[in-house]
Amino acid sequence: MTHRNSRKGVMTTAIHAGEAPDPATGASAPPLHMSSTFVTDQVAGFSAHDLEENSAYLYARWGNPTVQMLEKKLAALEGVEDCLCVASGMAAATAIFLTFLSAGDHAIVSDVSYAGVAELARDTLPRFGIAVDTVNMSDPAAVAAAIRPNTKLIHTETPVNPIGRLTDLAAISAIAKDAGALLSCDATFASPLGQNCAELGVDLIMHSVTKYIGGHGDAVGGAVAGSKELIAKMRAEASIHHGGVMSPFNAWLIARGLSLLPLRMKAHETGAQAVAEWLETRDAVTRVIYPGLKSHPQYDLAQQQMTNMSAMISFQVGNTAQGEATAQAMIEKLETIHYAVSLGHHRSLIFWMGTDALMDTSFRLSGDQLASYRAFAGDGIFRLSVGLEDADDLIADLAKIL
Ligand SMILES: *Cc1c(COP(=O)(O)O)cnc(C)c1O
Repeated sequence: MTHRNSRKGVMTTAIHAGEAPDPATGASAPPLHMSSTFVTDQVAGFSAHDLEENSAYLYARWGNPTVQMLEKKLAALEGVEDCLCVASGMAAATAIFLTFLSAGDHAIVSDVSYAGVAELARDTLPRFGIAVDTVNMSDPAAVAAAIRPNTKLIHTETPVNPIGRLTDLAAISAIAKDAGALLSCDATFASPLGQNCAELGVDLIMHSVTKYIGGHGDAVGGAVAGSKELIAKMRAEASIHHGGVMSPFNAWLIARGLSLLPLRMKAHETGAQAVAEWLETRDAVTRVIYPGLKSHPQYDLAQQQMTNMSAMISFQVGNTAQGEATAQAMIEKLETIHYAVSLGHHRSLIFWMGTDALMDTSFRLSGDQLASYRAFAGDGIFRLSVGLEDADDLIADLAKIL
């Protein structure tokens, strides 16, 4: 099958993009360049303003060959011109906000998102004179109504962590284009295989590469993919000035994971579908949200927009007290599934997220927005990241409790 974004197939793209046999040694596998500085034969400037496309390597905060290998691989898989890798997913979100927003600007941010991003948008950006409106991104009319003359950025996340609600990216992108605003999307839950963000009109495709892209739970990192022009601007600000660069060792590990991402995502999706269907049969489970289930409130949008359903399931077991008691039983009895935060690894992970607690700390929703959250999450959810173990073993583990 030819990859939607390149003339090569998706596996060939994931394996070969960004790398080539090492000209010095003939090594077939990409080398790990643990070098902070590079000997140069040019009398060059020492400022972010001197960085040009195809500049020689100078210092690792400007660029490092191993990090660049990962950036090229990710850009190829997303079907865009360039990519910036940074130290974490949060550093990627900070890079987007602080590169493209200034005092006096307005941003529209998803009212539900990764908790760290929610807190950054609500608490940090206003301190710098940036106005933020938080909007339910599953409702394009609400996004359109929030547009102001100074709206510079719309930031969404789909499927959204932790409740699995979807954003219609084509609809929001049309609104952003009309307003002359950039659209950024945190696509961590979907992975690059889950939806074609670039074709749907997303300008800045963000990932916590700690999750599916690395896929092995051993390295933290973040990435933003997009046009040459936007990424160059971010590289000068976020890497060279803010300084949150990715370690070459992490880039090397993450690129190794990314090489087999298409195979892993197929297996993740198959396993998650089996576990989600089993959860729906359990009396103890009152609600299951997974985009591959017909019961997902936006199943039609999932079918139309998503090319892989990924493996993030959220499910409810009743009220807060029942949720906490079930979480305690999981901590004591689960053997294969780890009770831990994070997601997208080959090991399955599960974590309880109470609605009241998250409202206090992160989302602070009321009215219709709180009602929409509760329609997906009730009093709280278990966020289950289905790994690559045999689905039967995961089901047997969960069956001890549910
Ligand atoms: C984990 C996560 C982040 C933050 O990434 P880190 O690598 O932990 O900094 C951002 N967005 C989403 C959707 C995530 O799941």
